[in-house]
Amino acid sequence: MRARLAARSTDRAVFGHRRVTVNFEPGEISREEAAAFAALAARGVRELERLAGLSGRAPLRFELRGATLISYARGRTIRLPVHRVLARTAPYLHEIAHVLLPCSRAPAWFSEGLAGYLESAISERGAGYDSHLFTPAGNSGVHADAAHWLADPRGASVIPFVGTRGTPRGILADRQNVAAPFYVLSHSLVKFMADQSGLPPLVRLSRARSFPAAARRLTGKAVSAWRAEWLDALRRPAAPLSPPAGGTPGAGTAR
Ligand SMILES: [Zn+2]
Repeated sequence: MRARLAARSTDRAVFGHRRVTVNFEPGEISREEAAAFAALAARGVRELERLAGLSGRAPLRFELRGATLISYARGRTIRLPVHRVLARTAPYLHEIAHVLLPCSRAPAWFSEGLAGYLESAISERGAGYDSHLFTPAGNSGVHADAAHWLADPRGASVIPFVGTRGTPRGILADRQNVAAPFYVLSHSLVKFMADQSGLPPLVRLSRARSFPAAARRLTGKAVSAWRAEWLDALRRPAAPLSPPAGGTPGAGTAR
């Protein structure tokens, strides 16, 4: 699809697309770069819907901002740091996953793990790029990254929140030592579940009103059982969950 300039003011511009609008500040990113991002984001929306078996029509709004440090999604609006968009390190696929699969009643580990898993899955299909914000090797290396974190005191301090409920203290303030292990371990657990149960039950689980009961019904196992099996597999170096990626904890977090 071709992006077109839908509106422009002296300091803001918006590219209109059938499924996305991109709001940007022309002093920070060129029209061509914003249009290219609009096309990339629209493709990401289509691919994520295809992968998750969703159908949607409502547009997503992207705001590219120089002053923003942390990417986030609220409702159907996604705000991204413009420098990450220019460097192709923006977690736009992760945030699209949050918008399309809001996980409003699911615990944080599931919401973040599913977004990370889908970001990697779509980029591995060649339909966009992986920000590699916390997982330097994406889905193929996330278990190796998780095993590194599990052996690290920073991983040990967030593991009580993975496969349970809540978020570790400092997750917003300390991206490198708290958010990084929490995101990697959550992503690894979701991939472990997706590899065994398939993605469709996890998509349904993301919309469930009662997460623990729905997890048992949709995946055939209680979350506590998934968690125990996953931890056991991560701690058994003789039976690796996937080929080691060669990454070290925190390797992808300094950008
Ligand atoms: Zn997220």
